[in-house]
Amino acid sequence: MSFRKTLKFFIFSIYIVFFIWIGWHGYNALKFKKYTYSLKKPTFELKGAYHLHTIYSDGIRTPEEIAKRALRAGLDFIIITDHGNLNEKSLNHQGWINGVLVLRGSEVSVREGHFVALNFEISSDEFPAIAKLAMRKVKKLNGFSIIAHPYNLKNPWIGWDTKDPLGIEIINMDSAWRSRFFLSIPYYLVFPFKPQYSLLKMIDFPEKNFKKWDEICLNRRIYGFFAVDAHLFYESLFKILNLHVLVDKPLPSNFPEAKKLIFDALSKGKFYNAIEGAAQADGFRFFGKIGEEKIQMGEQKTVKLPVDLYIRAPFPYKIEIKLIHRGRVVLRTKKKVLSFRAKKYGPYRVEIHLLESSPLSRKIPWIVSNPIFLRKMKGRRK
Ligand SMILES: [Zn+2]
Ligand SMILES: [Zn+2]
Repeated sequence: MSFRKTLKFFIFSIYIVFFIWIGWHGYNALKFKKYTYSLKKPTFELKGAYHLHTIYSDGIRTPEEIAKRALRAGLDFIIITDHGNLNEKSLNHQGWINGVLVLRGSEVSVREGHFVALNFEISSDEFPAIAKLAMRKVKKLNGFSIIAHPYNLKNPWIGWDTKDPLGIEIINMDSAWRSRFFLSIPYYLVFPFKPQYSLLKMIDFPEKNFKKWDEICLNRRIYGFFAVDAHLFYESLFKILNLHVLVDKPLPSNFPEAKKLIFDALSKGKFYNAIEGAAQADGFRFFGKIGEEKIQMGEQKTVKLPVDLYIRAPFPYKIEIKLIHRGRVVLRTKKKVLSFRAKKYGPYRVEIHLLESSPLSRKIPWIVSNPIFLRKMKGRRK
């Protein structure tokens, strides 16, 4: 064969492989259905989406339009986090909007990267440009801080010596698709027909984020957040990543009370994260018990060992539960309801992997709990 012919043949083969690849994803996308089950909505569990941008920064819709989409996606609340310092226009939007609880925050740019400030009282001066000082100010204004997209290619976080953040984003959808931009080509093509399928395929396993989270948890409380980081495609993204917040009463209709309920729970780690787009994730529970006293997810407690930990994941799908202690898997099971006697100090958290056939890779945990931190009582000095 001449060189020209070989080249033609080569290019033709690449075309064929490319079309087969796209066709294969098209076929799978059409087949895709989210796993669901019928369950009365748990009363003490609220579902929401965290980290999104409106027209007041680089998003494409108004808070009102976004709230409508959140309602259609079945959410109880959303947390707007427009870029900006002071960010007044965006911060004016909170309350019950179009049937959804709309809470506000800010994504603040500092020298060390981006962080999200939530629940702070609005002040008339800007946040400083240095992470430590800015987060201290957030705290002073009764708010709390979350490290945004720690290993994002464009804006990674470098302020690891700052001890103030109460949270870290362990999955961020914006970082996810950017890191797989070229690999995601077939998914862009099927996106208009099956956005959920495409988005699930675009999520990668952000191992670095999880490792860093576990590392910080050894010494202090820090909570993991799934962030939609939505600028467009709001409804699709709301159906993909959710926070399930555990509360002790139904969502009040009085706005300040409702806001307090959600932010109190978030700042105490009383929530779990789920890739809801793959399967309905309502009803998961993880807690500890000392006698009759319950230790909630997110709680840090000085205890005498052992402590019994309980995991309840009564889903009608094939799953694998992993209990993780100090970053290491200490229990791996296909059981759905179980207990574990914790005989060591440190943070314990749960990951659940979906074993059903799904566009979500099995490497990626479908549910991620927040840790229970069992700490040692400090001995008296002699
Ligand atoms: Zn950012
Ligand atoms: Zn953002």
